Amino acid sequence: MGKGIFVVTVPDQGTIRKVAFEILSEARKIATAKSEPLCAVIIGKGVAALAGKFAPYGADKVYVVENDLLENYTADGYAKALADLITREQPSIVLAGATVVGKDLMPKVAARINAGMAADCTAIGLDGDAFTVKRYMYSGKGDAGKVDLTEAEVIVSGGRGMKDAGGYAILEDLAKVLGATVGASRAAVDAGWRPVSDQVGQTGKVVSANLYIACGISGAIQHYAGMGTSKVIVAINKDGEAPILSKCDYAVIDDLFKVVPPLTEEIRKLKAD
Ligand SMILES: Cc1cc2nc3c(=O)[nH]c(=O)nc-3n(C[C@H](O)[C@H](O)[C@H](O)COP(=O)(O)OP(=O)(O)OC[C@H]3O[C@@H](n4cnc5c(N)ncnc54)[C@H](O)[C@@H]3O)c2cc1C
Repeated sequence: MGKGIFVVTVPDQGTIRKVAFEILSEARKIATAKSEPLCAVIIGKGVAALAGKFAPYGADKVYVVENDLLENYTADGYAKALADLITREQPSIVLAGATVVGKDLMPKVAARINAGMAADCTAIGLDGDAFTVKRYMYSGKGDAGKVDLTEAEVIVSGGRGMKDAGGYAILEDLAKVLGATVGASRAAVDAGWRPVSDQVGQTGKVVSANLYIACGISGAIQHYAGMGTSKVIVAINKDGEAPILSKCDYAVIDDLFKVVPPLTEEIRKLKAD
C-alpha cells in the first residue's frame, strides 16, 4: 500500500491557488476509497504559515518543504526538493494543478523519480486499485461525435458556476438530449475544467447558435462578444443581478444544479413521446 495521496501546491506570492483546494476535494474521495492519508505538500520559502489552510478541504497531513533556496521558483530547485520528498515518503500518486508552474514542475519531478505522468487531466478515479484519469486529446478535438462549436446549432455552455470539472456531467447530459455541443467560459477553461477548444468569447470561439444556453455564466462583455449573435439565449443563473440576464431572451433565476437535471429529463420525455 502506498503512503498517501499527495497534492502539491506552490504558493504564488503567499497565496494558495484555488485549484489546489479543488484538487484536494477530489483527491479526498480517492484517499478515502483507498484508505490512504490525503497529504497536502506546500513548497517554497516561508510557506509554513499557510499549512493550516488545507485541513478544511480534507487533508490529513501537510508536508512543508521550506528552504531559503526556494525563495524564487526555479524548475530544477523545486523539482529536486519535491523529488526528494516523494522518494522518501513513497506516495501512491502525486497531483498538482495544471498551472504554469505545475506544467513546468511536474514533468521534471516525474523524470527525476522515473515515474509516469499524465498532463492536463480533468478528472481522476479508480478502477480497482489502479488510478484512472480523464484527459482531452488534441485539445478536445478528438471527440468523433462532437460538432465543433463554431458549427453547432445548439450550445450548452457552462462557467464558473459549474463549481468544478465534474459539474459538467449534467451539461453533457443536457447536450446529449438536445444534440448540442458543450461550451465554456474562460473562467472554466482557466480553472482547467474544460479544454481551450471549448472556450467561447473574445479570446475563444465566436459562435452563432440557434439556441445558446448559458449556465453559471455571468455574461461578461468578453464572453458576450463570442455568443451575442446567437438567435435565442437562455441564461440559468442564481444571481438575479447577473449581467447575462439583461442580454438573454429567457432566464431561469435559480441554482443550475436544481434546474438542469429535471430540464434534461423533461426534454428526454418529450423526445420519447
Ligand atoms: C482580455 C480578456 C479576454 C477575455 N476573453 C474571454 C473569453 O474569450 N471568454 C470568456 O468567457 N471570458 C473571457 N474573459 C474573462 C471575462 O472577463 C470573465 O472573467 C469570464 O467570462 C467570467 O466567466 P464566468 O461567467 O464563468 O464566471 P463568473 O463571472 O465568476 O460568473 C459565474 C456566474 O455563475 C453564477 N453561479 C454560480 N453558482 C451558480 C449556481 N449554482 N447556479 C446558477 N448560477 C450560478 C454566478 O451567479 C455568476 O453569475 C476575458 C477577459 C479579458 C480581460
